[in-house]
This record gives sequence, C-alpha cells and structure tokens, in this order.
Amino acid sequence: MSSELDWKHLPFGYYPTDYNVRCTFKDGKWGEIEVTKSDKIEMHMAATSLHYGQEIFEGLKAFRGKDGKVRIFRLEDNASRMRSSAEGLLMEPVPEDLFRKMCLMAVKLNERFIPPYGSGASLYIRPLEIGMSPSIGVKASSEYLFIIMVTPVGPYFKTGFGCTDICIMRQYDRVAPRGTGRYKCGGNYAASLVAGEHAHDLGCSAVLFLDPKEKKYLDECGPANFFAIIDGKYVTPKSDSILPSVTNKALMQLARDMDIEVEERHITVDELANATEAGACGTAAVISPIGTIRDIDTGKNYEISPDRKPGPISTALYDRLSAIRLGEYPDEHNWNTIVDLD
Ligand SMILES: *Cc1c(COP(=O)(O)O)cnc(C)c1O
Repeated sequence: MSSELDWKHLPFGYYPTDYNVRCTFKDGKWGEIEVTKSDKIEMHMAATSLHYGQEIFEGLKAFRGKDGKVRIFRLEDNASRMRSSAEGLLMEPVPEDLFRKMCLMAVKLNERFIPPYGSGASLYIRPLEIGMSPSIGVKASSEYLFIIMVTPVGPYFKTGFGCTDICIMRQYDRVAPRGTGRYKCGGNYAASLVAGEHAHDLGCSAVLFLDPKEKKYLDECGPANFFAIIDGKYVTPKSDSILPSVTNKALMQLARDMDIEVEERHITVDELANATEAGACGTAAVISPIGTIRDIDTGKNYEISPDRKPGPISTALYDRLSAIRLGEYPDEHNWNTIVDLD
C-alpha cells in the first residue's frame, strides 16, 4: 500500500521515510549493514568530514512502472562513480556489491513511499559517505560511515517541460582545473552557492561555468552537465573538471540510437550562436531545457529557444529516457535494476 501523499506536489526536499540503512568501515573492514529508524547521526565533533570535507554522495531514483514493477535507473554507474569519488578524496571506497545491496534494501524497506505510476514522482535515493575519525591534523579518516537514505520527490517540472535562462559569469569558478570537479563531493556544491545565488538574483536558474583554466570553453551548468544541439549533433563538453553525469551518458547513447551524431569535445562560448537547442542534464530533471544564455560580462544574449519551448531533439531524448525508467519503452541497454518486492 502506498502512503496517501500528495505525490504531484511534493517538492525536491526531504520527506521523512521509515528507515535508512548504514554500514561502518572500521578497523580496516566494512561491518554489518544496520537498518535504522532514526534520521540522526551521532558523531565526533572533530570528524574529518566536518572539518576537512571528507564527504561524498550519490543521487539516483527508483520508479514504479507501468507494469507495477519498481526500477532503479543505472545503479551500477552510480556505484562505480562513488568508488571513484572516494578514491579522489582519499576515502574508503564502498564495494559495489555493498552499494547495490544497501540500495535495494533502502527501497524495499520504504516501499510505501515509492510514488505510484503516473504521478510523475519518484523515490530519490541518496547514498552518503563521510569520514568519522576525529582529527585536528589534516589527514584522511580511518573510519567511515556509509548511509543510504531515500525520500519521495515530486515531478521536477510542476508546470510542464519548459525552458529557463542561464548565465555566464567569469568571476566565479566552481572547481579548479585538476581539482575535485570530477568527484561528487559536497565541497564542490558549497563552492558554487555564491555564484548560483548571483545567477538567481539576475533571474537565471543557474550559472554556465566556463573551464577554470582558460575561461574559453563551456564546462558545467550549475549542478548539472550541459549539452547543446549544434548542426543537428548532440555536443557536450569534455573536461577534467566536469562530474561525469550518468544522465548525460544515457542521453548520448539514446542520441546515437536515434542516429544523432554525438560529440564530446571542447565547446567555445561563441559556438552557442549556432546552437538550436541546449539543456542542463542530471538525475533530478533528466533535461532542463534552456531558453536564453546570457553572457553577463559581454552583454551578449544567446537566444537558444526564442519561443521558450523545448526543441524536438531535447523532447525526444527526454521522452525516451523517461519511458525507459518507467518500463514503457524496452530497456535495450540494461539500465534498470528491478527491485524484488516479495
Ligand atoms: C550529480 C551531478 C550531476 C548530474 O549527474 P547525474 O548522474 O546525471 O545525476 C552533474 N553535475 C554535478 C556537479 C553533479 O554533482
């Protein structure tokens, strides 16, 4: 039985669920999986995660499909990305099988919070790993806590799939050229908040960051990857400072499936003049289509979608990816993990 929540109007926030699952790495090994009802963590005030930012996370979603089955989208990719993030911050990597097992447990234990098919809502899965050992000297923790919490989230587009504006501002960098941009760590988000707030003040939904070294190429779009349709091709930035988005990877594959050429390469700011469509992509929205890109420093506006309607390729990709997650379209690339609810 599903809880009677107002699924369609749930925000992308935190709604308490029944259980979370946890596992601790201590004395050189991962312990037993614990099922917890509390949403609190007891930790040492000198923990490395609090002082020196040893914190990484993931974000993925489970959906109730047309056939009633529950699917988690691209769980393996999130597991391997979390391993890479752990290595990047000198943290203990969570074994992929442990990640998988705990994800399935967290979803099953909170089955009543999985939104019904057709609501547009989903169960957001948030894995989190933090350094727990107390230390005042700067060094890696020897103890880690890995938690998977879940929370139902409403549809991203409350008023339909529509465009927002974004802006380029050269005064901010989200990450360093060879820094932590390719890892999913909280520090990258903290470093982007001032720029994001500035963008909001200008009426834009996000900052389109440029590459932090030369300020010549497009990098990431706030907390999402960026793509544009240029000469009928799906073009997306290639850079060491970008977080490899699972959604972007899926969109590239779907574009190829639709005989759309894909290019992963440097994209200069000027090339935006030739873009017929553009979007930010990530798990939260799949695609957030872009209307205008405002270059605040030069005053130039790139009108990508003057009618403010998402373009045909973005719409086709969005529809296909959404349909695969809901079991409405064949899962040809084996992206879904079916949750056994018995
Ligand atoms: C999570 C994240 C994305 C999107 O990745 P998905 O795997 O598609 O959800 C993009 N950029 C940044 C900086 C992120 O943290």
